[in-house]
Amino acid sequence: MGEYTGRFAPSPTGPLHLGSLVAALASYVDARQHGGKWLVRIEDLDTPRCVPGAADDILRTLEHFGFEWDGPVMFQSERGEAYRAALERLPVYACTCSRKSLDSCQCRNLIHKPEGMHSVRVFGGRTIGFEDRHFGWFEQQVDDFVVRRADGLFAYQLAVVVDDAEQGVTDIVRGSDLLDSTPRQIFLQQELGMPKIRYKHVPVVRNADGEKLSKQTLAPALDWALAAALLNQAALHLGWPPAEAAGPRELLRELAGGF
Ligand code: GLU
Repeated sequence: MGEYTGRFAPSPTGPLHLGSLVAALASYVDARQHGGKWLVRIEDLDTPRCVPGAADDILRTLEHFGFEWDGPVMFQSERGEAYRAALERLPVYACTCSRKSLDSCQCRNLIHKPEGMHSVRVFGGRTIGFEDRHFGWFEQQVDDFVVRRADGLFAYQLAVVVDDAEQGVTDIVRGSDLLDSTPRQIFLQQELGMPKIRYKHVPVVRNADGEKLSKQTLAPALDWALAAALLNQAALHLGWPPAEAAGPRELLRELAGGF
């Protein structure tokens, strides 16, 4: 493998929990094992859902757990211009109807400069497949989908693609809850002529009720005092042997193979 740049892209909607730690650890170790770079991007795109102070808390928690990122942290809240420019290069239409179903939407007329408060959709219509490094071949039909919401916010799918390209990301390792977003992201990369990315989706952490750990399912915040134990718990979830070092920094270095 040649160049490798990985990343961790948390949304500051609350503190990190064990599920986020698994995603961070999986991407970090993969990057270090490939002799690659590892970047952090704060996905504070959906401003109404962002919690004040959460971005800072996330970065300090990552530091405390021993993660070291290469280069400045990117913030999606500062990237509006780049998203706008990308949107103008996509074949899109403005959807002004209130119908939920695509089949009954009559709005599919190409526009050039999306303006005004209505949702903007990209024309889909092809099947996208990719080889996931964990799950194997995965493919899905990509239909029209929203790239800018009616409230003016850019969609996660668009922002992620524009940012991964800007940051030179070659490899994405993240939770399997995002597996079925990937075809839409590859579709946008193709439309925008961006480089291909390799993907590895890792199984998400579930609670005793079988729900994915998240803020909605009230996953507890990572306890700094238990950093080493939590890193080992995340490693166990990923099917790795536990590390023995005492402190989180040393432990993380050991998990990444003493790079
Ligand atoms: N910000 C997204 C999340 O926290 C992750 C995006 C990604 O890894 O592509 O779920």
